[in-house]
Amino acid sequence: MAEDKEEYIECPMCHSKNIKPKWDNIRSINQNDERFSIVQCKSCNLYFIKQKVSPEYLNNFYNKSVNGDKNVYNDENLEPLKFYYRKLKSCIEKIFPNKGKIFDIGCSGGYFLDVMEGWDRYGCEISTYYSGIASQKYGQNIFQGTLEDYEQNDNEFDVITLQDCLDHMIDPAKIVSKCYKLLKPNGLIVIKAHNIDCLFAKIWNKNFYAIIPPAHLFYFNKKSIINLLKLNNFNIQTYMYIPHILKLSTVFLRFAKGENGISYKIYNKLKNTKLGKICIYKDLHDIFTVFATKDCRLDEK
Ligand SMILES: [Zn+2]
Repeated sequence: MAEDKEEYIECPMCHSKNIKPKWDNIRSINQNDERFSIVQCKSCNLYFIKQKVSPEYLNNFYNKSVNGDKNVYNDENLEPLKFYYRKLKSCIEKIFPNKGKIFDIGCSGGYFLDVMEGWDRYGCEISTYYSGIASQKYGQNIFQGTLEDYEQNDNEFDVITLQDCLDHMIDPAKIVSKCYKLLKPNGLIVIKAHNIDCLFAKIWNKNFYAIIPPAHLFYFNKKSIINLLKLNNFNIQTYMYIPHILKLSTVFLRFAKGENGISYKIYNKLKNTKLGKICIYKDLHDIFTVFATKDCRLDEK
């Protein structure tokens, strides 16, 4: 139960003690009775789950909920996601026209790497199921486990991408700091995450589709993500909203936030139908992508 968990008394990112309750009693997507609270740091604007979870808890959560037939959250939107991947590829290749060595953290089945033709492709994935799919294509370049356990030389990669994964991690500040070390001088970090400050989130409030503890432990906005990167010596290049394409059935899956309720029933009815496969263009600013480069001048000081 969430009540038994230790709670944060300060912001895990900026260490301010000025944290205020935002939403209480949020149901876990784990289909159990667990409840979580979300708090907001008034200093850096980060929103986060107040209850601390352990690496063992998360490992169990991911390896239980995404294997077997429970992988709809990852597989459902694969084809439409490629629309975003291609746009991201062209943004990255404007900065690295000669390509290079790329590391996709939380690479799932290697689907983004598949789009990055011509690059030296590496990935890391906690789920044994998905890392297995990625390994079939990229062999030893795929590491099964968390970034904390990943051992690699410093100054190794030209580009590191974190797409829909930083908000899942126990210690985002530690992750960003590790990415700094792994990147070559002037290397690029790309972070894609949900924007808790978008109008859509404000309207839906605690029912915003991205509020899915314990999958999402952190909820970023422009201020908190830029703050996190600057704290770790990155220079912000661009903060942007890249449009997405979603299948109609996926829209209902997102609203369902679990397998109970009317939205999930509609998703099930729609999922293999022509109607459910209709694609919707989405530019709600509910997802941001931020690009930042490793500033080595700070290392020399
Ligand atoms: Zn803070």
